[in-house]
Amino acid sequence: MNPDWIYLDNNATTAPSTGVVGAIALALSQTWGNASSSHAMGQEAKQALVMARSQVARFLNCKPAEVIFTSGATEANHIALRGAVGFNGRHKIVLSAGEHAGVQKLARHLRDRQLAAVDWIGLNADGSLNIDQARSLITPEVSVVSVMAANNETGVLMPIGELARLAHEQGALLHVDATQLIGKLPFDFAKSGADLVSLSAHKFHGPKGVGALIVRQGLNWPALFMGTQERGRRGGTENLPGILGLGAAAEKLSLSPEGWLSQTSALARLRDALEQGLLAALPGTVIYGASSPRLPNTCYLRFGHVHADVVLNKLDRMGVMASSGAACSASGNEPSPVLLAMGVSREDALCAIRFSLSGHTTAQQIQTVLERLPLELAPLMAEHTSSVSSPSELPTGVFA
Ligand code: PMP
Repeated sequence: MNPDWIYLDNNATTAPSTGVVGAIALALSQTWGNASSSHAMGQEAKQALVMARSQVARFLNCKPAEVIFTSGATEANHIALRGAVGFNGRHKIVLSAGEHAGVQKLARHLRDRQLAAVDWIGLNADGSLNIDQARSLITPEVSVVSVMAANNETGVLMPIGELARLAHEQGALLHVDATQLIGKLPFDFAKSGADLVSLSAHKFHGPKGVGALIVRQGLNWPALFMGTQERGRRGGTENLPGILGLGAAAEKLSLSPEGWLSQTSALARLRDALEQGLLAALPGTVIYGASSPRLPNTCYLRFGHVHADVVLNKLDRMGVMASSGAACSASGNEPSPVLLAMGVSREDALCAIRFSLSGHTTAQQIQTVLERLPLELAPLMAEHTSSVSSPSELPTGVFA
């Protein structure tokens, strides 16, 4: 990586921390046995696996036995939703319109194959969940409600506690895709009310290709990949380097409440400085989700009517990495389904840019963006003045 690059795409992936790199190197060079082997090498690997499981459990306040290691959040989401079909004899999934592409595609696949009925809870204009609609859709036929803890594009937080109550009142389960929240805000599995939680290590300075599904104790959850590992809940030789990397990333974030507070406020201060600076320098900038409680690191906006590709191109030339939404759908000319669900027009949605910060982002980097980006964008925004939204059209709280 070029040291001059400014990486502001941390919702796509994060830099592995030094401890994570060390743990992976150790697993590859030393602890490379198969954790299922009965000999000493196998037992050494097994001990390392036990340690990583406890690190994850301590970080999320769950029991080690509730952790199933997977290849990431995509697989965890699949185990959760596939397993929920038929749970308690029910075959209905309720999910939010803002869920990740993998969850949306799986739900549509299950519906098209007539394996499950699916209903979608809409989003409000401020990116929050339409909770009234959730109330009417969560009925006694529902087997699982699947809603992310924080949206990957807007960063807006979803009402997990309220959804847990609504789901449990109807005998349904709550699955939470917490991939974007974990590592940015504290997450307590025991207190969350969720029955199933998905996460991915590379979103919090761990390695790619490893994650976990947390399954509440007492739920006898079916496997997607059959085998003996992970107590029969996820077959396949464990990815020990990845799992030890995940453990190290979790351990680093097992912070005290004060530790979380200072990390969260430092991130929010930097993000707010970026937003305030851009709003001041480039009138016509619209920030999405700003009036809702949201992740401290995420900034989702459009610069008037300048197309996202044009902005990204300018940023790229400046050595600044950002994205036009979810990394998985960042290429191509399709507008963000999340913004469309919030009622944003197709044309405006095609202008959206996401900056996502991390603990590695510096005030100097934000300053550099604020000094250079307006110089590039102001003339382009002026070209579009006639079609730029008037302040009255902007979502409330945008300038807060
Ligand atoms: N859920 C959410 C909310 C995500 O942001 C992502 C990653 N973009 C995933 C699931 C999938 O994670 P992975 O690709 O690591 O499996």
